[in-house]
This record gives sequence, structure tokens and C-alpha cells, in this order.
Amino acid sequence: MARYSGASCRICRRENLKLFLKGDRCYSDKCAFERRAFAPGQHGQNRFRKPSDYAVQLREKQKVKHLYGVFETQFRRFFAEAERVRGVTGATLLSMLERRLDNVVYRLGFASSRTQGRQMVRHSLVTINGHKVNIPSYQVKVGDIVSLKEKQQKSELVADNLQGAARRGVPSWLELDAKAFKGTVKALPNRDEITLPIQEQLIVELYSK
Ligand code: SF4
Repeated sequence: MARYSGASCRICRRENLKLFLKGDRCYSDKCAFERRAFAPGQHGQNRFRKPSDYAVQLREKQKVKHLYGVFETQFRRFFAEAERVRGVTGATLLSMLERRLDNVVYRLGFASSRTQGRQMVRHSLVTINGHKVNIPSYQVKVGDIVSLKEKQQKSELVADNLQGAARRGVPSWLELDAKAFKGTVKALPNRDEITLPIQEQLIVELYSK
């Protein structure tokens, strides 16, 4: 499956949830979901049919995939890995998605969205423990130090992003040193720190069929 390149706001409206895909716009009154909180399309306001269990599970998976901007193949790979690890599969899956480098760049506030975080990683603007890493799906580990390249530290975009990010806060498993443009992974993310309403059990059920 190719990455979705259409209007991000349609995804939020389709999933009936703000997924914060467009950076600062998501926190403004321009947010399309705030203006039109119903599904897109001609019949968006007329969906009365009760969805099947399968449809509910599928939508939950799509929602999480869109939230983290992950391909189906990669999502399945994450799921297979989560199944192998000891613990609750759904919670492990979410923890792995949180530990993606593009997500960490976003969570630290260097980027205004995961999409922008992914671009920054791809363009080699991010280092881990002083080494260049340009793989957005890289899984950070406890003790890793995520920094921005020096040139990027002078960018107005990053300064704006950091200001905007103060509004959403940095999760407790990360520690931000905004002046040094670096963040430390203090612990692995746990389920409680993912505050969006995600029912990961539905994804487990979907893939267990
Ligand atoms: Fe979703 Fe609103 Fe952000 Fe658009 S602006 S991506 S609808 S949260």
C-alpha cells in the first residue's frame, strides 16, 4: 500500500478523531475536524448503519497507521515483532510505534508533526548519540540522545516548532534540553503515556483472525 498523499484532514474526519497530522493548524480554529466533525464525502453526514465488528477493527488499525504514518507492510512487521516480545501485544505495538525516530523528533518538539519529523530524519538532520541516522522507523533505546544537526539548530522552523510544542508537552519517557537541541530517552514509553483514544485490542483481534 502506498502512503496516503491526499488531504490529511479527511483522514481525521474519516476516523472521527483529531489525529494531529498537520502541525500547528491542528491547534487552531482552522482545524477541519473542529469545523466539520463528520465523515468526508457526499454521504458523510448520513452514516446510520451499525458497522460490523470487522469494520470497527479495520478502522482502528487504519487510524493507528495514519496516526504514525506507517505502511501496511511495516505495520504488520511491527505487529509480528510485538507478538514475539513478552507482554501485552497491543501495548507493545504502541510502544514500538512511539519509539520510532520520526515520532520521537515530533514528541520532543523539533518537528510540528510526525510527517515533518520523518522529513527531517530522511534529510539527515537528526543524530543519535552523535551519529547520523536517516531511518524514520529506527527504534530508539533507553539512554539514546537524539540531537539536531548544528545547521538545523539555527532554523526558524525549529524555533517555532519548539515554541508550539510547549503547548503539548514532552512525554515523561523523554527529556528535552531545548537549549542544546537534544533529547534523552529516559525510559521506554508505557501505555498510559499514549493519551489518544486507541483500542489496540481491536487491532490484535483483527490480525488474529
Ligand atoms: Fe486533523 Fe484538524 Fe490536524 Fe486537519 S487540522 S489534520 S483535521 S487535527
